[in-house]
Amino acid sequence: MAELWPDQGGPFINYISGPPSEMWRREQVHGLVLLGSTGSIGCSALDVVAAHPKAFNIVGLACARNIERLAKQALKWRPTHLAVLDDEAAKGIQALLPADYHPHILVGREGYATLAALPEASTVLSAQVGAAGLNGTLSAVLAGKVVCLANKESLVLAGDLIRRICTQTGAVILPVDSEHNAIFQCLAGRGQEITRLILTASGGPFRGKTSQELRRVTPKQALQHPNWSMGAKITIDSATLMNKGLEIIEAYHLYGVPAERIKVLVHPQSVVHSLVELTDGSQIAQLSMPDMHLAIAACLLWPRCESVNVPPLDLTAKSLTFYEPDEEVFPCLRLARTALDGRGGRCVVLNAANEAAVELFLAERCSFMDIPRLIAATLNIYDTTMPGHQSLCSVSAAETNATKSSLEKEAQTLAHRIASLDEQSRDRVYSMARHGGFPC
Ligand code: MG
Repeated sequence: MAELWPDQGGPFINYISGPPSEMWRREQVHGLVLLGSTGSIGCSALDVVAAHPKAFNIVGLACARNIERLAKQALKWRPTHLAVLDDEAAKGIQALLPADYHPHILVGREGYATLAALPEASTVLSAQVGAAGLNGTLSAVLAGKVVCLANKESLVLAGDLIRRICTQTGAVILPVDSEHNAIFQCLAGRGQEITRLILTASGGPFRGKTSQELRRVTPKQALQHPNWSMGAKITIDSATLMNKGLEIIEAYHLYGVPAERIKVLVHPQSVVHSLVELTDGSQIAQLSMPDMHLAIAACLLWPRCESVNVPPLDLTAKSLTFYEPDEEVFPCLRLARTALDGRGGRCVVLNAANEAAVELFLAERCSFMDIPRLIAATLNIYDTTMPGHQSLCSVSAAETNATKSSLEKEAQTLAHRIASLDEQSRDRVYSMARHGGFPC
């Protein structure tokens, strides 16, 4: 099975974990926990399970507050455990379930962590939104699970720590993010001969626009992604290209490849999901319809490749085009690379400031162009005034979580404060960030 796994420990590729154990591969039925089951990835994962019902036993489903959808899923799959964000949601879900069905209902961060570590689950899909997903991922890797990782923030925030835990517990990471899954497939059996990873980006709804044209775009316009149907946060991240910035950090941690060997290429059709470049200059690409069911199935059913009712790719249907990204108009790509330079704390600040800025933009409290500026300004203030957290990932999981939470709060408060300044003061803070070396 080694030939199906990216090389570990080579000069270019050093994959984050080893392959699943023999025991996991021999399991007729994988006990499965879905963290974030009511979101777009979670629902697609349940479609994959529905297409292969004999391969899985759903033992746990978790969501934040969408209890109506969770109740429908629970009624269909009858897991023994459910987890929700708070007591109110727990009461709500209880009321929606029939009298003859009594799953354990777990609550909050602790609840998600317990669910992710359930002994009867060998496999966990980590698909919660944003930084909140780290807790569940950490719990699953600590418990040595096969983790199908859709929550890229887990690696952005604690990639080094997750790599270390995988070595200790034998946990496995299978990448669900479509670009990283494509690279995973291209890398199977390779390592020494790779020179670069090439992540493709659709360019989002504002591809080709100038800074001038982007000054007055609305949340509604930014939420219209041309190719993928996703949640609001990731759709805005796609419009700013911060999604690709986070994916550079994700690829860095997954494949152990330095950021300068990770290139981004804009590819509006989202058919080539990513590529690897070999030492002879040739490239290997993975192509398919832009449909997340495929990447999810590739992880859940690994190493098997089976139909999940997605139509085959017809290459005569559209022309495939590629462009260099415009990093002047979309500075988030460079911001992510800059954050990776500082490692640990800077990536946490980048992510927290981005989450705050996206929320502010969706609430129409800052402009689209303010998103990278708020992130740059927060990073600049962090670098100059906030205590260093450079060793963030060299401590235990619990300490990392605690440090990360306080750092996130500080960064989000800062981003909110900067956004509420009058225009002149705000421009001054942005200009300081530019002088501090942060592109915005
Ligand atoms: Mg992606």
